Amino acid sequence: MQFGLKKSEFANVWLLLLGFAGVTVLVLTLCWTASERLPDYIGRELAGEELAAVVGRNSSLAEYAWLSPCADFPRAAQIDSITIHHMGADLQLAEVGERFANQDRRTSANYAIDSQGRIGIFVEEANQAWTSSNATNDARAVTVEVANDQIGGDWHVSEAAFAALVELCADVCRRNGIAELTYTGDERGNLTCHRMFANTLCPGPYLEGRLGELAVAVNERLRE
Ligand SMILES: [Zn+2]
Repeated sequence: MQFGLKKSEFANVWLLLLGFAGVTVLVLTLCWTASERLPDYIGRELAGEELAAVVGRNSSLAEYAWLSPCADFPRAAQIDSITIHHMGADLQLAEVGERFANQDRRTSANYAIDSQGRIGIFVEEANQAWTSSNATNDARAVTVEVANDQIGGDWHVSEAAFAALVELCADVCRRNGIAELTYTGDERGNLTCHRMFANTLCPGPYLEGRLGELAVAVNERLRE
């Protein structure tokens, strides 16, 4: 009678266990690198060919890019809407890039528009920005931050910024197959704003008051 395993069988069991451990380590390492390692063009201001490549994959109306690491790569749903935000500040695009590069803030947007009407890309459309305090919305929406040229009050935005917002939204719709923007004043429409998803004033009374007009202007361009 024999109780237990022979010496050679022990060796086999150990080899098997070692094999399992090895495979586990390998799988965990692969998962870790896949989730942690971002392309090296993320997290800094882009210029030249790198800027051109990012603009080429997103809105050609953008003239600036500083891609934020604060995002999900790629986004979890197909783009079918646009969500409007205001900065609550009058930042230049480089200042927006710096702010979104700070991983402690855990905030970003696909695009931002400064008070001169310049458009910057901060999270590529293929990826999911952290903008609306609502991951379900951020997965489906292209999010846009607009600078305020007056701080406080009704949080005014410049005409140049609003005009750029109209063109950017029309371009996003065209490239993503959104036939029409619908503003219903709540989250049932596909033109939404931050306030519909969180307890915030964003995008401020002034810009929120012009969202219906924004939808009309964008739809005119989509019919052209
Ligand atoms: Zn917001």
